[in-house]
Amino acid sequence: MRQYPKPLNKLINELSKLPGIGGKTAQRLAFHILALEESEATALANSIVNAKRSLHYCSVCGNLTDTDPCEICSDESRDRTKVCVVETPQDVIAMERVREFKGLYHVLHGAISPVEGIGPNEINLKSLITRLQQHDEVGEIIVATNPNIEGEATAMYIARLLKPSGIKVTRIAHGIPVGGDLEYADEVTLLKAMEGRREI
Ligand SMILES: [Zn+2]
Repeated sequence: MRQYPKPLNKLINELSKLPGIGGKTAQRLAFHILALEESEATALANSIVNAKRSLHYCSVCGNLTDTDPCEICSDESRDRTKVCVVETPQDVIAMERVREFKGLYHVLHGAISPVEGIGPNEINLKSLITRLQQHDEVGEIIVATNPNIEGEATAMYIARLLKPSGIKVTRIAHGIPVGGDLEYADEVTLLKAMEGRREI
């Protein structure tokens, strides 16, 4: 079988490593990129490199940011007594779209999953404890992990972990369909889930 020229094969190979991109789509994208003006192709390549180089995780909350601490952590107008715990930076964006929550966040970068061998030490949880020890103004932790087995396990773990501290731990209500992703929930659903949160 005739092969594509090496640089094209390399491009297809790299694109096919992206989530949701199969071999055929990778080929289609590669040919699309080849058909671009050189300036457009360069802009695409540069945006990947620049995003990778300039973004890092906030040293306080773990959110993706190009400043440290991130914009939310540095915003003095936010309610520092509430911290909403989410799984991903995309979840922070989803919560911010609701415009109702004015507290701070903590991004776990995952959830506890015994099946996949992901324990409490494999997610960004230790830094939450350190953070709470340093900031005794925090009175409520709102656990907004996804409504699936991993998200629930994580919520229960956090509730148990924080019990001795006396900090109130609440879980967002189940407006979000079970097995659904917080990231894709619409604003009204998220707002209701937030309003209906219960202590665990
Ligand atoms: Zn932050």
